[in-house]
Amino acid sequence: MNNFEFKNPTKIIFGKNTIEKLTTEIPQEAKVLLLYGGGSIKKNGIYEQVKSALSKHTVIEFGGIPANPEYAILMKALKVIKDEKITYLLAVGGGSVIDGTKFLSSAALFDGDSPWDILSKSIRTETGMPFGTVLTLPATGSEMNSGAVITREETKEKLAMGGPGLFPQFSILDPQVIASIPERQLVNGITDAFTHVLEQYMTYPIGALLQDRFAESIMQTLIEVAAKVIKDPTDYKSASNFMWSCTMALNGLIQKGVPTDWAVHAMGHELTALFGIDHARTLAVIAPSHYKFNFETKKEKLAQYAERVWNVTEGTTDDKAYAAIEKTEAFFNELGIDTKLSDYTKDYEGTAEKISKRFTERGWLGLGEHQNLSPDKVEKIVKMAY
Ligand code: NAP
Ligand code: FE
Repeated sequence: MNNFEFKNPTKIIFGKNTIEKLTTEIPQEAKVLLLYGGGSIKKNGIYEQVKSALSKHTVIEFGGIPANPEYAILMKALKVIKDEKITYLLAVGGGSVIDGTKFLSSAALFDGDSPWDILSKSIRTETGMPFGTVLTLPATGSEMNSGAVITREETKEKLAMGGPGLFPQFSILDPQVIASIPERQLVNGITDAFTHVLEQYMTYPIGALLQDRFAESIMQTLIEVAAKVIKDPTDYKSASNFMWSCTMALNGLIQKGVPTDWAVHAMGHELTALFGIDHARTLAVIAPSHYKFNFETKKEKLAQYAERVWNVTEGTTDDKAYAAIEKTEAFFNELGIDTKLSDYTKDYEGTAEKISKRFTERGWLGLGEHQNLSPDKVEKIVKMAY
């Protein structure tokens, strides 16, 4: 195992009817900006629960944060924070609202020229404005980590940011919110969380035995509940296990002591920035090609994953490793997720070259767990995903 330090300060409040706990989690004297997305919370009763819990707080609202949180819209929220002298942020939504809130937490205390520098110059956030979250969509793990991804339509960019100042102070996870999630978003959530685990697991060398088993158990649980939660999102047993699996997939625990890859996300973000494809679907497009391209170095781990997660017992290491890639792609397909770029756009020619050029310009010359995935290799992987 590699050396590591682990600290995750986010308080998780998990279970039925926990949104009412906002009353005591947010300091009474705070001036709160309640941030939300396109309005789903006004249809499913979550908004009422939040407002009733905060009836004695001073609350201002900012709605309209879109999926793939958009920089230009967040800049309007930043103006509200400054004009209204907001002291506390509350995100009520999925990964997009939470990530947008993390950007605002950082930007509110940023004293550089342009808040875009936080993203374009990878400025780590040591201290942000305090914020909490009410998670409405299990998927990203953003509710218990310190990362965020922000989109800028003007330049067709999607960049990540983070730092120890960006952990939520608390996150409320009431699995009952899952009842109103449309199937498209449920399957996105399963796929995103599953790929988060793969990015932290499908690496070499093998050596962190407990971390491997944590990762495998999260994937097994996601596979076990996927069909059930899609069939009946009100099934509390499936919903609650789905929700906790998504959080555990990316709260930092399983990435400690192991090398982590994240190349699938780096390439996937470009597909969202260029074509507007849902985040999770870009991962399902890239992951199979990525594992095929890096087969030789990752095959021991792929074979272990085939045996332990997919119960593949027959064949050589190579056979099992191939089966692992096939099973993963089939799992995404069974969820209704297409795994080729051409399934999403007819305009795919030239995409690989474009992404490879962008990575070169940004100085991203070596992705992957051993920083050896150069832009020319990225180009080949993206082409394989057409
Ligand atoms: P999302 O973009 O937050 O939400 C997708 C859609 O689901 C929205 O239209 C939203 O509607 C709707 N929705 C959410 N909760 C709902 C509910 N309870 N009932 C009905 N509809 C609901 O989706 P996401 O997958 O959670 O987040 C994706 C973003 O997170 C991407 O930008 C991705 O890059 C990023 N991400 C972040 C991390 C991280 O660690 N920070 C990791 C992976 C991905 P409303 O807008 O109306 O609410
Ligand atoms: Fe993700």
